[in-house]
Amino acid sequence: MSTDPVTIARDLLRCRSVTPAEGGALGYLENVLKGAGFTVHRLTFSEPSEDMVENLYARIGTAKPNLVFAGHTDVVPPGDEKAWTRPPFAGEVDGPELFGRGAVDMKGGIACALAAVLDHLSAHGGKPKGSISFLITGDEEGIAVNGTPKLLQWAAAQGEKFDHCILGEPSNVENLGDTIKIGRRGSLNGHLIVSGRQGHVAYPERAENPIRGLVTLVSALQAEPLDDGSTHFPPSHLEFTSIDVGNKTVNLIPGEARARFNIRFNDKHTLDSLKKLVAQRAEKAAGGKIKFAFEWEPSNAPVFVTEPGPFTELVAKAVEDVTGRKPHLSTSGGTSDARFITAFCPVVEFGLVGRTMHQVDERVPIADLRALTTIYHKIIDRYFA
Ligand SMILES: [Zn+2]
Repeated sequence: MSTDPVTIARDLLRCRSVTPAEGGALGYLENVLKGAGFTVHRLTFSEPSEDMVENLYARIGTAKPNLVFAGHTDVVPPGDEKAWTRPPFAGEVDGPELFGRGAVDMKGGIACALAAVLDHLSAHGGKPKGSISFLITGDEEGIAVNGTPKLLQWAAAQGEKFDHCILGEPSNVENLGDTIKIGRRGSLNGHLIVSGRQGHVAYPERAENPIRGLVTLVSALQAEPLDDGSTHFPPSHLEFTSIDVGNKTVNLIPGEARARFNIRFNDKHTLDSLKKLVAQRAEKAAGGKIKFAFEWEPSNAPVFVTEPGPFTELVAKAVEDVTGRKPHLSTSGGTSDARFITAFCPVVEFGLVGRTMHQVDERVPIADLRALTTIYHKIIDRYFA
């Protein structure tokens, strides 16, 4: 008899694990995994002035290769619970769908991975040919400091080695099987500060209005694309998100003007080369006449890509065999914990359909839970074949 992912998903949805609360979700996984013969570690990480976060690492087998399923059991808050047509933490099945916060992002994905692993183990005498691990954090939807990055460091310090990782985030856009994510653009936030000389509007010749300089630099930085894209990525993009002078006085020329921007960048850049490029362009536009400076916020979102190869092909083939769809290998969307995992092993993201994630009435078709379990099961079987 095969394991029912719907029951597991339901049990997980009933845990109130609103980030960063554990809510019983990791305890549930610990029990099930221990029952299947996994060695389970529960790790709590903290940082002064931040919430403590619980995490879990579980492994069965000691041999290579080690196939890792990664994910998070924390969820975003439900918002106004009365706006939901089914309670967000009841795990109610209605007709063809299972409702609840985290149904697709990503307790549903974890349930499918767990069901697939249990089925694989019971078909192979309870042991994998190599190793199978679960790397589960309770801090993905929050600031992601005491979650996956520290869990990975801890595992590395224990001598744990990962060979390949599947992160079960809701990667699909419209239908199960349409998208596997193999990378992500990097993200960098910056501030552009132009300084002038404060003065009276009636005597502009005695002042130097920084707004003029700011407008010149903002328009120059938007005028030219940063690059024309690369094999797996669209062109990098710089977008201004705010312009601030904060001047409440009608007859005063301000002394300083600021603008804030974000850059989503591809693998033609590193953080350093990108900062240099932006500064050079501003320099050129300023022509020595505008006094400006950049302030850069620290970024923990570098660009990365898992180059297509045997592993991505194995995953894509399993997806196609079950869904009939040839998945698109994408690098689009916001960041995920894959940006941390990529430093340790090749990682791909494949999970449920993201359409209702973070929304009221988040829900997942039961058929998708069963199909994703079958996909994961095929991946595991072929990986260890
Ligand atoms: Zn997620």
